Amino acid sequence: MADLNSKITLKLLIDDRSHKVLFGEADKDFVDFMFSLLTFPLGSVIKLLAPPTMIGSIGKLYQSVENLNEIYLVPNRDKSSLLQPKVSTNVKNHLLLDTEAIAELKYYICNHCNRKVTTVKSTVCPNCKQVMVTEAAFVVPSGSTSSATGAETGGEINAGGFVKGVITYMITDDLEVTPMSAISSITLMNRFSMKNDVQLMEKVVTVGMKEGLALLKASLDSPTALTDVFCSPNKKKAKPPPSSFVNYYD
Ligand SMILES: [Zn+2]
Repeated sequence: MADLNSKITLKLLIDDRSHKVLFGEADKDFVDFMFSLLTFPLGSVIKLLAPPTMIGSIGKLYQSVENLNEIYLVPNRDKSSLLQPKVSTNVKNHLLLDTEAIAELKYYICNHCNRKVTTVKSTVCPNCKQVMVTEAAFVVPSGSTSSATGAETGGEINAGGFVKGVITYMITDDLEVTPMSAISSITLMNRFSMKNDVQLMEKVVTVGMKEGLALLKASLDSPTALTDVFCSPNKKKAKPPPSSFVNYYD
């Protein structure tokens, strides 16, 4: 499902003097990707960012699970549910998840009382004490369930993701996402140019796995995420990030 070569584009309005992003103009694919970050389990986020480079103590917590002997875990529980938790997503292009990370969780219903569901086959139904073995498929809502829903979404049947595709979205440097409007962008430009002597420049950037990962990291520890990822003048050369972060995908 994850296509590592697929790219998403984002149009940025940059102040070339201060090397700051004023805002970005994004379409559905980029907004879906950014919103999908909110659906990532914390364990996946830490795995992606490499635990030793995490700010705070959460990396140590992750490493504790890595180092813990399996004999201390309860039956039916393995470490991967904490270290590589499954993500259920219907975002077309989520950049950061490999196919293994995408949930193919199996569900088993009690077909005696039809009231309980479990992810572990042969669990005893607490309601009627029958063994739950009937597999049921999980359905990701995609807005395609009825023709009425299709009409509501402007005909975007099976669009997947989170937001509608016919609209352009504005994303600020600190990742506030709103539907694009001329008034809001002019307001933002005015606010910026009152404080600074600006030299506006438009730049179209592509967002692949590397940028997606950098956006995830920046979203957690920077109020200027877009600037950090796309136009920091000393982005790569001057200050290399910790080597484990750089080498994580090499
Ligand atoms: Zn039951």
